[in-house]
Amino acid sequence: MKYGRTFNFSAGPAMMPEPVLEEIRDEMMNYRGSGMCVMEMSHRSKVYQQIIDDAEKDLRDLMGIPDNYKVLFIQGGATLQFSMIPMNLMKNGKAVYIETGAWSKKAIAEAKKVGDVIVAASSKDKNYTYIPDCSDLDIPEDTDYVYICENETIHGSTWHTLPNTKGHVLVSDQSSMFLSRPCNVSDYGLIYAGVQKNVGPAGMVVVIIREDLIRDDLTDLPIYLQYKTHADNGSMYNTPNCWAIYCCGKVFKYLKNLGGLEAMAKINEDKAKVFYDFLDSSKMFKGTVVAKDRSLMNVPFVTDSAELDAEVVAATKAAGYDNLKGHKSVGGLRASIYNAMPKEGVEALVNFLKDFEAKHNK
Ligand SMILES: *Cc1c(COP(=O)(O)O)cnc(C)c1O
Repeated sequence: MKYGRTFNFSAGPAMMPEPVLEEIRDEMMNYRGSGMCVMEMSHRSKVYQQIIDDAEKDLRDLMGIPDNYKVLFIQGGATLQFSMIPMNLMKNGKAVYIETGAWSKKAIAEAKKVGDVIVAASSKDKNYTYIPDCSDLDIPEDTDYVYICENETIHGSTWHTLPNTKGHVLVSDQSSMFLSRPCNVSDYGLIYAGVQKNVGPAGMVVVIIREDLIRDDLTDLPIYLQYKTHADNGSMYNTPNCWAIYCCGKVFKYLKNLGGLEAMAKINEDKAKVFYDFLDSSKMFKGTVVAKDRSLMNVPFVTDSAELDAEVVAATKAAGYDNLKGHKSVGGLRASIYNAMPKEGVEALVNFLKDFEAKHNK
C-alpha cells in the first residue's frame, strides 16, 4: 500500500479507491481552474451544477436506471430513510418487513411509529445467520410495500434471490452492497444506500425511487421529509452534501472505467472466495452465516472462544489490519471487504490468519 496506508476492514466509513483519493487530492486547492476547492463552492454555481449532473448521469449509466426513476441525494444517512420510507410510501398504512438482522430491526421499529408493520419472515431464531425463504409469503392485498435489507452489514448475510412480493412494491436498503454487483432497478420501487459503506464519505444517502411513488398529497409532512421536495429540486432544495456528491461522482466514474458493475462483481466474488475458502478449510476459524446466504461484503467469523477472538483482533491490529473486531451483537471478528478493498488486502489478511493458526497449534 502506498502512503503508509493500512488495509482497513472497517464496516463504514470504509476504504475508498486510491486513484479516486489521488484525484481528489490533486483537485483540492483549485478545482479545474475555478480558483476554489469543491468544499468552498456555491451549490448554485455552474461549476457545481456540472458536478452533480455528472454524478447522477454516471450513476444512471452504471446501474442502467430507467427514466421513470428519480435519483435523489439526501442527508440524514440511511437512518433517516427508516422514517422517510413509511412516511412517504404508506398510503394504506400497512407494510411487510423481512427481519434479517440489526438494520432491518431498526427499520421496523421506525416504521411501527408510522403504521402497521407485518414482519412476514425473520431469521431471528438463529441470530440472523441466514435469509428466510420468501418465495411464498402471506402478503395482504393492501400492503403498501415489502421491505428488505439486502445486505446485513452486522450479521453478514445477503439476499442472492429477491423475495416474491406478489406484485407489491419492493423497497431495499442496499447500504452495504450498493454498486457491488449488477442490479435490475426495475425489480424495485425504491432502493437506498448510505454511501459511507461502499462508495464515498459519510453524510449522504442515495435514493432511487420510481416516479409514481412520489406523492404530492403529503403537504403536512415536514418539507425535508417529502421525496417530492428533493425530486422537484434536483436534490438541491437546500444545500446538499456537496462534498459527498463530488466524491461519490468520482467513484461512479471510476467504476464505469473499471468495466461497470459486472466487472466489479467478478472482482468481489473472486476476493470473497479467497476469504471463505480459507474459513471453510480452517480448524480455528469459521464463518457464522450459512454458505448460501453469505455476504460478499461483510464477513463475520469466530473461533471457539471469546478470549481467542480477542487475541486475534489484537494481533491483527498490531500487524496493521485495522477494524476487525466483530459487532458486539455477533462477537468474534468481521472483515468488511467492500469494492475498494484490494484482493491483496484479503490475501494478506488470510495469510496472517493462517500463520496465526499454525503458530497457535504448535
Ligand atoms: C450503516 C447502515 C445503515 C445506517 O447508515 P447511516 O448512514 O449511519 O444512517 C443502515 N443500513 C445498513 C444496511 C447499514 O449498513
